[in-house]
Amino acid sequence: MSSEHLDTLAEHDPAAHPDAPAHAAERRTDDCRVRTHEPAAGGLSVVGTPIGNLGDLSPRAVDALAAADAVCCEDTRVTGKLLAHAGISKPLIRCDENVIAARTPHLVERMAGGERLAFASDAGMPAISDPGQVLVDAARDAGVPVEVIPGPSACVTALVSSGIACEHFFFEGFLPRKEGERARRLARLAAVPGALVFYESPHRIEATLASLAKAFPTRMVALCRELTKLHEEVLRAPAPDLLEQVQERGELRGEMVVVVAPPAEDEMQAAVVSQPSNEDPEEALRRDIVSALDAGEAASGIAKRLSQRYSRRRRDVYNLVIALQTDRADA
Ligand code: SAM
Repeated sequence: MSSEHLDTLAEHDPAAHPDAPAHAAERRTDDCRVRTHEPAAGGLSVVGTPIGNLGDLSPRAVDALAAADAVCCEDTRVTGKLLAHAGISKPLIRCDENVIAARTPHLVERMAGGERLAFASDAGMPAISDPGQVLVDAARDAGVPVEVIPGPSACVTALVSSGIACEHFFFEGFLPRKEGERARRLARLAAVPGALVFYESPHRIEATLASLAKAFPTRMVALCRELTKLHEEVLRAPAPDLLEQVQERGELRGEMVVVVAPPAEDEMQAAVVSQPSNEDPEEALRRDIVSALDAGEAASGIAKRLSQRYSRRRRDVYNLVIALQTDRADA
């Protein structure tokens, strides 16, 4: 998220109302809150922050930021503005993806020595396509207490907003930039039995939709743009139609998430079979025969089905089924 972006946020920030409480201390009347932030000795507070609407900064997040000795963040200007909005002033420690790994041992030492540090990324949940995970990992390894203050994430917000079946989903984050790599990655994802969620930037959205149209021509796709912001928009159509719509609209601006509907049953079966695998095909065939025999399937049916799947002569597969069946009877 850019620093201009935070400026835009402030425009539709419910807390910017003259009567709205400006500081965490004034938010303590919130009846729903069951636990206020209790500043403990050393530890890490991982703080979720808004993805576009400052009204989504939770009272608990404000309390945690206010209680920290220092706030680690990606871009100090972005987090500085967020803190200023909440009326908090704290030392900021730059911990973007280029430096966080190198800084982690020192930060963990500080927390082990009794300091409380907060970590916030530019927007949304830290560690979700953002830095943060290495710090949490190292803190936990060192026995430093870690608390997470949950906040919005574009992934979950888009899933719900898309209306696409999301009982099961797979979060991919950003796809590879090169077309060939992207196509290979999508081929791997074709067999995932759930919705797929991708983060994307405005200047790569057309290329990504073109790849999706090739990989999943019949699946419904939702393009969720500027979520929680003034110009929030969700476009939904099968991938090729959505690509056409986006091309007709010209440059689409803002932040965006793409949600792809789960595969139909037959599409998923076909994708499972065509997955690139390191397994020896002969071994895979034997394994499938054994599980079909376990399931009580007749030898002729197994031969018919698996000869097609493995592009083998039906008679050869049938002979193998009988041989394995005999082995099992002798064992
Ligand atoms: N940590 C963040 C989270 O929890 O969602 C994600 C950070 S990632 C670097 C930034 C990407 O998230 C953007 O490129 C976009 O794909 C997505 N994103 C963030 N805010 C968004 C918004 N308001 N609307 C749509 N997508 C958003």
